Amino acid sequence: MSLSASKITTGDEHFESLTQRALELGATAARVIRTDQVVFDPRSHFKCRFGCSRWGRYWTCPPHTILNQDQFDKAFAHYGRAMVVQTKDAKDSQDVTVTLEKEAMLQHGCPFAMALALCDLCSECAYPEPCRFPHLARPSMDCYGIDIAATVEPLGLQVDFDPQGEAMPAFYSMVLLD
Ligand code: SF4
Repeated sequence: MSLSASKITTGDEHFESLTQRALELGATAARVIRTDQVVFDPRSHFKCRFGCSRWGRYWTCPPHTILNQDQFDKAFAHYGRAMVVQTKDAKDSQDVTVTLEKEAMLQHGCPFAMALALCDLCSECAYPEPCRFPHLARPSMDCYGIDIAATVEPLGLQVDFDPQGEAMPAFYSMVLLD
């Protein structure tokens, strides 16, 4: 699938404006999905805790995310729709989803943005000093057990290849909408 702007394939019509807004903000693709399409795999906790160099170094990664899985699950259960956002750059991913979260909040109650893997706002996280941008930092999806690849692949959103066969990077984030 091309990284060019793509159209919403699922979701209610009234979310189409948010999808278009995501594309205007720099997303290469955006999809509104039902939250029961978000795939959870508790094995991701293994990958966070062992083998990830970011463990314990970011305010947005375990064990510093403060909300435990039970608290997250209870909050997640209140959402029926989410937007999956694809960008070419990790920082863009965070910028687009947090902007969407703040704009969607005016229309849809209590949206919440999540990052793919890490906060990309600072070259080095300030941890253990206070977060420099707490109004912009959002937690990783991985740390709450979301399998992002299994979530986006059924939507046709995977890493693409250029004409030379080189993999083109794609970063994914998510906004829980309503
Ligand atoms: S904004 Fe900076 S200090 Fe705060 S979590 Fe992100 S990288 Fe760390």
